[in-house]
Amino acid sequence: MKAAILEDWRQLSVREVSDPRPRDGEALVQVGYTGVCGSDAHIFNGDIPIARTPVIPGHEFIGRVAELAGAAAEGPVGGGVAVGQRVAVHPLVSCGSCVACRRGTPHVCCNLVVIGVNRDGAFAEYVSVPAERLIALPDELPDEVAALTEPFAVGYHACRRAGLQPGERVLVIGGGPIGLFAALVARDLGASDIAVTEPMEARRAFVESHGIGAVDPLRESCLDDLAARAGGEGFDVVIETSGVDAGIRVAVEAAAPRGRIVALGFPAERFAQYNVTFAIMKELSFIGSRVYPREEFCETVALLTKAVEDGRIAFDRLIADVRGLDDLERSILGVAKGEERGKILIRPGG
Ligand SMILES: [Zn+2]
Ligand SMILES: [Zn+2]
Repeated sequence: MKAAILEDWRQLSVREVSDPRPRDGEALVQVGYTGVCGSDAHIFNGDIPIARTPVIPGHEFIGRVAELAGAAAEGPVGGGVAVGQRVAVHPLVSCGSCVACRRGTPHVCCNLVVIGVNRDGAFAEYVSVPAERLIALPDELPDEVAALTEPFAVGYHACRRAGLQPGERVLVIGGGPIGLFAALVARDLGASDIAVTEPMEARRAFVESHGIGAVDPLRESCLDDLAARAGGEGFDVVIETSGVDAGIRVAVEAAAPRGRIVALGFPAERFAQYNVTFAIMKELSFIGSRVYPREEFCETVALLTKAVEDGRIAFDRLIADVRGLDDLERSILGVAKGEERGKILIRPGG
């Protein structure tokens, strides 16, 4: 099959490799679409601690089940998914025995394996995955939208971590795809005043074209602008997707009393500084958000399906382009620079 292999950091080659062979309990998935993600740029550069080479990257994907091996073919492991079925894949493989797994939170497993990060992923025509990670897709959900499940699930989990309630005010720091998707999910879950901070003008315009207010964090009046958008009362929930020090500082200042700050953007500098006095005086909660549990991945599929039916999210405009594997490297570099407006999908099958 044709695949993109990260041979070493910053060395991506597209070439023929042998097809993956599913082991007992695994499914072979013929990949339909794979999204290019900001994390792919971090993986490409070797910035993600658990990443390894050589690896076939690609963790946001959908496809069709081509083969079920051993126990997966016999039933319960595959959850009733059959050969030929259209599926999304929850790309996390947990150990089942560490403290996080025993406590029922396998998505923060101490030995987490992420398909497309430290196990071969879906920038390839085929990928082999544990059958229990398969999620059957409803017919009403088109392939291209289904391929957005993973980044939407990141935003969905952030809203769940915040305990977001209808009518609450939400601020999202960072207007890249993850920030925009998080804001769209927050709106879908009933948030009232939603604002996004984003320094790049083109991205602000794109966010606003989806009906969400965007503020330039580099403007001196940023905090006043945000205060005005929150009715002078602050934001109940702040979702930090930028990983920039200044983002955390704005989050702490713009939050309402008892506000919840959810951090999911990996910081460029490992330590961020913010005003702890604000955090104490307002009794802020600071919450980390990493990937998504399987149930929330399924809930995200349901949310997207409903949003397609009633047209409340303009999915066609969220997808910037569909390209082949040969265009993967330039796509990863473009995403890293914030040049792509919306999501790039790769069709490994051409
Ligand atoms: Zn991703
Ligand atoms: Zn574990």
